[in-house]
Amino acid sequence: MVATKLDGNATAAALKSEIAERVSALKAEGIVPGLGTLLVGEDPGSISYVAGKHRDCAEVGIESVRVDLPASATEQDVRDAIAELNANDAVTGYIVQLPLPAGIDENAMLELMDPAKDSDGLHPTNLGRLVLGVSGELHSPLPCTPAGIVEMLGRYGVTLPGKHVVVVGRGLTVGRPLGLLLTRKGIDATVTLTHSRTPNLEKEVRRADVVIAAVGVPGLIKAHWVKPGAAVLDVGITRVVDDTTGKARLIGDVDSGVAEVAGFLSPVPGGVGPMTRAMLVENVVAEAERRAGL
Ligand code: NAP
Repeated sequence: MVATKLDGNATAAALKSEIAERVSALKAEGIVPGLGTLLVGEDPGSISYVAGKHRDCAEVGIESVRVDLPASATEQDVRDAIAELNANDAVTGYIVQLPLPAGIDENAMLELMDPAKDSDGLHPTNLGRLVLGVSGELHSPLPCTPAGIVEMLGRYGVTLPGKHVVVVGRGLTVGRPLGLLLTRKGIDATVTLTHSRTPNLEKEVRRADVVIAAVGVPGLIKAHWVKPGAAVLDVGITRVVDDTTGKARLIGDVDSGVAEVAGFLSPVPGGVGPMTRAMLVENVVAEAERRAGL
């Protein structure tokens, strides 16, 4: 393997130990940050993601509140749960685990959240502030996966100003907000945002200094598409259940051969996923600090 591994587990562990110190400082002031999770239904992937988020909270010393509704929950049940999380003072920030079951309007539910408590950074107010590039008093939670990607690249010394980044996938949680974040003043990348209707994706990817694949198509990005030395971040996660063992395996969007060409490569699992989770905890703690005037 040529590429340096962008080790999300190790980077997230370092970040979480810094966050744990901030939590200790808050606790010394009598403030205990808390994360809430709202899970609707029994999707195995979602159950496992939510469990991981609660483990992360325990690791950095913050409280967590779990609200689980059955798949039969109505939109009104979800509205009521969101209202309770908005009102709960023990919850500094919370997430609504997506996707919600069919028939529940996700965008309408996200809009009901208190934007300051939106730890995923997906409320229209927070996405709007991402577009505006505001900071300071109006500091808003950033979407966790894009923020985790920028944080990881920074910690590995992969600079972004002047670089050409090709983002594959224009989804709400990764591709679209990532394009906005990367082109923010101070980050200063030049971004090509591609999707399923992009003609000749291979040609676009070959021009990239940094490739970020957030699609959900296993092995989409091939070795011969990648410019030698480019940094490649594999965000895609496809769960494949082995028929004989019944065990689930996670597969990324990047073909294994890319490791022979790229300069840096994030694996699946153990790449962007742990960074996403660490940034969620960071958003909860940052909001607690903001409220405390720290
Ligand atoms: P999404 O909303 O379904 O978006 C997928 C995007 O991929 C769409 O923009 C789609 O294009 C594009 N696409 C589909 N097939 C393509 C192809 N053959 N060539 C080029 N583009 C194609 O999904 P998402 O929520 O953004 O998530 C994307 C992936 O990242 C999923 O596998 C998800 O599980 C994973 N994910 C990982 C993390 C993490 O922390 N590691 C976090 C979030 C998501 P159109 O818009 O034209 O349909």
